[in-house]
Amino acid sequence: MTDHANENAVIVVGAGIAGLALTRELVRRDVEVVALERYPSLPDAGLAINLPGNAIAALRKLGIDDVRRHGVPVERREYRSSSGRLLFKVDEAKFWGADNKPQCMRRSDLASMLTKGIPEGVIRQQCAVASVSTSGRSVAVDTIDDGKLTGKYLVGADGVHSIVRKMCFPGIETSVAQLGQASWRFLAPNPGVECWTVWMGEHALVLLIPVGPNEVYCWATIPGDEGHSSHPANLLRHIKVFPREPREAVDAALASQASLHKSPLTEVRMSSWSRGRAILIGDAAHATAPVWAQGGALALEDALVLAELFATSDDALEVGDEFTRLRKSRIGHVQTMTDRASRISRLPISLRNILMRYAGRLSYTNTYKPLRNA
Ligand SMILES: Cc1cc2nc3c(=O)[nH]c(=O)nc-3n(C[C@H](O)[C@H](O)[C@H](O)COP(=O)(O)OP(=O)(O)OC[C@H]3O[C@@H](n4cnc5c(N)ncnc54)[C@H](O)[C@@H]3O)c2cc1C
Repeated sequence: MTDHANENAVIVVGAGIAGLALTRELVRRDVEVVALERYPSLPDAGLAINLPGNAIAALRKLGIDDVRRHGVPVERREYRSSSGRLLFKVDEAKFWGADNKPQCMRRSDLASMLTKGIPEGVIRQQCAVASVSTSGRSVAVDTIDDGKLTGKYLVGADGVHSIVRKMCFPGIETSVAQLGQASWRFLAPNPGVECWTVWMGEHALVLLIPVGPNEVYCWATIPGDEGHSSHPANLLRHIKVFPREPREAVDAALASQASLHKSPLTEVRMSSWSRGRAILIGDAAHATAPVWAQGGALALEDALVLAELFATSDDALEVGDEFTRLRKSRIGHVQTMTDRASRISRLPISLRNILMRYAGRLSYTNTYKPLRNA
């Protein structure tokens, strides 16, 4: 067992989107940092991620200017009924502007962009955190294979089942998302979609987004399902009446079940993201059903805001309160709009389709407009 002590270091638990972005930004700002990641390589699972305009803006602020080298820009969204009828569409390139046009890319590409420039040794892989503690003066972390570390701040960037949250914020429970219990994600050959397209049926929705020359990223769920969604065959049953494109993509995924990832929809809601020297960011702080694809964007923004506070604040104990204050309204807005959209997705289909046709664009604008400004 080794004992690493550096009284000024920020210890980041987790090197997902939030942890990598924070580590990268702290390195850029010359703040001492170490990131501990339980897996031997950066997690990816072969999946993709849709990055809305505010995520692209945050990546640029992180000094990443080659976003367009990876994946496919999302020019347009189309919301369709289960029969394929267009309910409404959004010109995303126009809405976000050329610089911040959304982009769908593989998670591994996002992770490599965030990791580039972080010196070797700063991220310790295969370093699972077993327990954490804080005092008025310092923080301490026990790892399973790498001994004990002490530092100045502890950041829980360790996802929805965060050990930092469990140990430093007792009593905060995760909850099942209003949208439904679970969803599936997979990559499939592109069955012929040109842009971000969702089909919404009575019991299921399927979203396809081009992510490569001949490949789509797919997210599918059964809104309101209370426990029957554990088998993807249920999904197939519910999308029988859907057009060819979503059925073909789901069929392809079912034919090679290895590529199908079941993704529980678990949320975290809490009123403050700090306790003394422990601070939560990303999903550990505010995991939200991916209705508006804001998880990645909020994680990147959290990292930027917190890095700025670490680099500029003299008062160690004020950083956390200030972080909560600065992030509260933006994250609260995403949570409110997620709940609103989740409730709509559970309405009877005829009512939902009318709402989508006449108020869908407004709902899109009301959700994303406040997020366009940093
Ligand atoms: C089905 C689904 C679809 C989604 N689609 C999108 C989308 O299209 N766009 C979008 O922006 N967001 C999307 N999201 C949300 C997005 O994936 C998350 O918000 C984002 O990954 C959060 O990043 P994070 O770094 O906070 O957490 P995570 O990505 O969960 O990373 C946490 C890291 O901490 C590590 N870790 C955990 N415990 C320990 C420990 N004890 N010791 C050491 N390391 C540990 C983990 O291995 C992991 O690497 C989706 C989510 C779901 C469920």
